[in-house]
Amino acid sequence: MEYGPSVEDSSAVRDWLRDRGPFGHFIGGSFTRPGDSFTTRDPATGEALAQIAQGTEQDVAEAVKAARKAQNRWAKLSCSERARYLYAIARHVQKRERFLSVLETLDNGKPIRESRDIDVPLVARHFYHHAGWAELRDDEFPGHAPLGVCGQIIPWNFPLLMLAWKIAPALAAGNTVVLKPAEYTPLTALAFAEICRQVGLPEGVVNIVTGDGATGAALVRAQPDKIAFTGSTQVGRGIAATLAGTGTKLTLELGGKSPFVIMDDADLDAAVEGVVDSIWFNQGQVCCAGSRILVAEAVTSRFESLLRARMDRLRVGAPLDKSTDIGAIVDPVQKDRILSICAAATAAGAELVGGQAGEGCFIAPGYLRNIAPANPGMVQEIFGPIATLSTFRTADEAVELANNTRYGLAGSVWSESAAVATDIAARIKAGVVWINGANMFDAAAPFGGYRESGFGREGGRTGMRDYLAEPPVKPAKDTAPT
Ligand code: NAD
Repeated sequence: MEYGPSVEDSSAVRDWLRDRGPFGHFIGGSFTRPGDSFTTRDPATGEALAQIAQGTEQDVAEAVKAARKAQNRWAKLSCSERARYLYAIARHVQKRERFLSVLETLDNGKPIRESRDIDVPLVARHFYHHAGWAELRDDEFPGHAPLGVCGQIIPWNFPLLMLAWKIAPALAAGNTVVLKPAEYTPLTALAFAEICRQVGLPEGVVNIVTGDGATGAALVRAQPDKIAFTGSTQVGRGIAATLAGTGTKLTLELGGKSPFVIMDDADLDAAVEGVVDSIWFNQGQVCCAGSRILVAEAVTSRFESLLRARMDRLRVGAPLDKSTDIGAIVDPVQKDRILSICAAATAAGAELVGGQAGEGCFIAPGYLRNIAPANPGMVQEIFGPIATLSTFRTADEAVELANNTRYGLAGSVWSESAAVATDIAARIKAGVVWINGANMFDAAAPFGGYRESGFGREGGRTGMRDYLAEPPVKPAKDTAPT
């Protein structure tokens, strides 16, 4: 795919990539000299963007050491001093908003409209919000100490936003961090390292080690004081097994197969827009995507015709083009994964509407209909722009279908009746349920899963608590041993 003249200008980013690459790790406030490296590519064109260091066990050990060395000093700063750094980071993210959006879109393939209007503003918001928590820490969590050094492993679907979700609360609580970005999308984390330098963050407070799953596994084996992982349920399960019985605290944000329930009194036009925001946002590579559409039988045919008309109008194309709705899948490996689940689903009897594979990393939006509950497309997280569509007759049946999953990350209910919507929402077993909306995030609202979607929360007060140690329990006077 060629980038034409109507697309967002990427020359500043390309200059930066040329001047700054090849990239080493960011350890103890400086970039290391890259040794073994891998290539990160623009998935829309296949073009090589930069060479990135492949982190070794030794690199991870050095980063943990740098974080350990910095931790005491960072923890001893006053709350308002730590807050000042977080405010400064937030302001710098805003100042570099255009640059970071273009860099994210090039590395990940997501439409520029999304990185510019959603991802990067939410990153700034997350740092502002947690600057507030940094300021309030001692008042709100009296007696709580930071955990120490936090190892953080993030996926590729929201690279900079997931970094913000991890780093902002950790720093606000007084921890230092070693973060490993995903191998497909390391670039905005490295640009973030530059921001840490620009705001004068003390060296060693934020360390970034790039690499693949082996680097992530080395970080887990290093047993820092906490591991915060966002990624697949399979990898999360392995991390939990490795850390079982160690003193390392663990939070896991894993996969999902979230229900999107449309009742017979729903505003169907609004619900169709909700589907667009839910499963066709970020090419469906969203952990909390409403990937299982459940619609009341009485309105199914009307809903489906509205949905098809809207789906056909979505523009699939160059991610840097401001009019693009659906960009590129992050990597050919992920594209093949999506297509193979769709093939298994149709082989098992489902009908695929839309969802054609294009050249390169592109897949058109689509959905699977006439799909049985045990069909692989219904059970597995597709993590692409393909939803499933099934029907129900009663509210109880809707709830039963919604909960018929091993995951429990999110849900969405559409009804014009507040009583109906809140009744159903309360019965869906998920970390968050939106009413007449989807994929609404706020730094103040805790986010996280149940069951195989993981445990622990990110965001808000609960998210802060997950980066703090409980204060020691003092024995009551009359029960103290004599
Ligand atoms: P993944 O688990 O393959 O990789 C995630 C991260 O873990 C990457 O940085 C990767 O290098 C690293 N990793 C891989 N193997 C590892 C190992 N053995 N030990 C330690 N680290 C390892 O997941 P992915 O394919 O990059 O991301 C997609 C998955 O992430 C989906 O299942 C999605 O639902 C989930 N996700 C969840 C949330 C959430 O908040 N719950 C958010 C985004 C994505």
